[in-house]
Amino acid sequence: MRVVLLGPPGAGKGTQAQIIAGRLGVPAISTGDIFRANVSGQTELGRKAKTYMDAGDLVPDEITVAMVKDRLAEPDAKAGFLLDGFPRTIAQAEQLRSSLADLGHGLDCVLELVVDEEELVRRLSGRRMLVDGQMVQREDDKPETVRHRLEVYREQTSPLSGFYESEGLLARIDAIGEVDEVTDRALAALGADDHGQAAPEQADEA
Ligand code: AMP
Repeated sequence: MRVVLLGPPGAGKGTQAQIIAGRLGVPAISTGDIFRANVSGQTELGRKAKTYMDAGDLVPDEITVAMVKDRLAEPDAKAGFLLDGFPRTIAQAEQLRSSLADLGHGLDCVLELVVDEEELVRRLSGRRMLVDGQMVQREDDKPETVRHRLEVYREQTSPLSGFYESEGLLARIDAIGEVDEVTDRALAALGADDHGQAAPEQADEA
């Protein structure tokens, strides 16, 4: 299955991506995680991305699209993937469509996690990550950067809902609730059964 997980920062995409991808037996590919690994590893890509990330801005499309194209060409993504945090602009969505078409594929579903903005701000400002045994706040989870990231989402990423809806690919789920409940809604929307396998009519297309 080829799935895109769409949703604002703080909607729980990272957590759900790991669980759902595990259930579907496909890799979870997070552009934010790839960028963060490059920043920690002090690579050229990380150096280019860091200023944008710290400001809560999007890394330019040409950098991001090339990185995703390389990642999708790796053997583990051949039979399917779950993209978390990509695409984030209409231009990225169009590039993704043409990269997949070159490989003879298309997306099976775009799953949007819906959470209201008040809840997002609450979640993001309280969020901490474990780094080298310590709980730290992400630079871009600081309150002023959170507000900016939500604005960037509203302006540049939210139009993707309409884009994918018009292609008949969009499924929206309420992402407020316990992690397990949200996972159940997500798997149901994807037409995957309790064991995470695609339902027969969808499995034929996968
Ligand atoms: P995330 O972990 O998905 O919230 O991503 C963290 C940061 O990485 C974002 O605020 C952007 O600066 C950058 N980033 C991640 N994915 C993309 C993307 N598809 N396009 C541009 N920038 C991205």
